[in-house]
Amino acid sequence: MSYLVLARKYRPGTFAQVVHQDHVTLTLSNAIRAGRLAHAILFSGPRGTGKTTIARILAKAMNCAEGPTPEPCNRCRSCLEITGGNAADVYEIDGASNNGVEQVRELRENLKYMPNHSRYKIYIIDEVHMLSTGAFNALLKTLEEPPAHVLFFFATTEPHKIPATILSRCQRHDLKRIPTRAIAAYLEDICRQEGRQVATAGLETIAREADGCLRDGLSLLDQVLAGADGEVDAGQVQEVLGIFDRAQLMQLADAVLARDWGAILDAVAAAYSQGMDLRKFYQDLCEQFRHMLVIRTLEKAEALVELPEAELAAIGSQVAGVSPALLSQTLDFLLREDSFVRLAPQPRLAVETVLARLVQVPPPLTIDALVAKLDTLRSQSADRQGAMPASPEPAGASSPASRAAPDTVDSPVEERLFDCIRQSHPKLAGVLAHCRIKAVNAADLVMEVGGNGFHAGLLRKNTEAIEAVCGQVLGRRLKLVLETPPRNRSDDSARQRRRRNAIKQEALGHPLVSEAIELFNGQVMDVRVLEAEHEGDPQ
Ligand SMILES: [Zn+2]
Repeated sequence: MSYLVLARKYRPGTFAQVVHQDHVTLTLSNAIRAGRLAHAILFSGPRGTGKTTIARILAKAMNCAEGPTPEPCNRCRSCLEITGGNAADVYEIDGASNNGVEQVRELRENLKYMPNHSRYKIYIIDEVHMLSTGAFNALLKTLEEPPAHVLFFFATTEPHKIPATILSRCQRHDLKRIPTRAIAAYLEDICRQEGRQVATAGLETIAREADGCLRDGLSLLDQVLAGADGEVDAGQVQEVLGIFDRAQLMQLADAVLARDWGAILDAVAAAYSQGMDLRKFYQDLCEQFRHMLVIRTLEKAEALVELPEAELAAIGSQVAGVSPALLSQTLDFLLREDSFVRLAPQPRLAVETVLARLVQVPPPLTIDALVAKLDTLRSQSADRQGAMPASPEPAGASSPASRAAPDTVDSPVEERLFDCIRQSHPKLAGVLAHCRIKAVNAADLVMEVGGNGFHAGLLRKNTEAIEAVCGQVLGRRLKLVLETPPRNRSDDSARQRRRRNAIKQEALGHPLVSEAIELFNGQVMDVRVLEAEHEGDPQ
């Protein structure tokens, strides 16, 4: 007797047996009951989540001798034929290999004949996104005017590759990725039916490796059950699947955080001697740091980290005293090097090289620590220099050429005034973007107008109106004085450049700056002059 793989042996025959896609199976059941099933249905979702399985059950449901019914009998001729894969009226087509116009034309030719012995002629097209543009166009004609005895069920992992014209003629159902816990529970159920014992931790490992794909989970379980006799424990599962022990992975993460080079090399050597794929090992390490970061930064991380509770708790205590900045720095570093490891001809060397570099990266300082350091530095510097003020005066502030502003104009006044003008005279809104209020004096309001002469002209024409608004906002009538900013002459800009250079030199020579450079072992990237609008030369 030939061995039937688990994925085929336990392929669901009813909607109730489908794992974790209730939102789809319930909708379909209701549609069947109401007799309102669409003639073209698209199932999209990650691989191994049940797209073709649901399509087959739906085909049974529609063609069952007792149907159409949401619960096909799985005993009648039609149901048995579909289970056996030799149904006369259900055509399963692989879109990847039958993607040409010719195949679709042939399909259309066949549509006009009535089904052999069933209610409907059903076409299940898998990987439908692989059809060529011509094939889609040929299919479109059929979907526009489908014969009453024909149903189309499409399945795809990449719905975005399907033309909008096709999508709009299908009823679409999106299948969800199956969570690790649901896969583990399903595998446990299968083991019970098979009369085999696999440790819960082992099943969780298989479920995690399946990564959302139920079919993968079942074939891994096949592999494990075939590779071990009697009861299977977690260690045997790891051995058969070639997976690094979770506890060892945690130790490695500890060693990375502690920058313990010896322990890191030991862990890599252990993985290597166990025959692990070191690229996979590296990915596991990345994922471990992702879990650590999530657990460290979120209070309720269970939903986002698919690990058994015991392991969640263990990681929780592992990262309790670790700064999130260090975790995110490490994860960031590991991910940046991911392609280097993935493409390396010698993965062991690549992993060791990356970790060697990681060990040399100093842990990040938190902002608090930085501020504390700067504070200490500042107070030390002030002590040493006695009377010298902690922060140097801006270079031009005390020069004789500098002058106090005539009337300080706070920006709220300008804002309020401009808002009112914009509301009452919307056509001036554009011009105001080029204006600023320079001064509000006893009798006049000085407004500086940038841009071209057109702007000033427009304002001049509306002087009356603006003065009226000023009266409302400021409570007194002021005369509007318009000024245009002086054009920069070339000797002006040369003088300014000299002045900026002098300020930069002075800033770089300041003891605080040089001490900061020494403290952080850094270099000055850029000096920005904050008081650029001061006219006076530095003393
Ligand atoms: Zn039936």
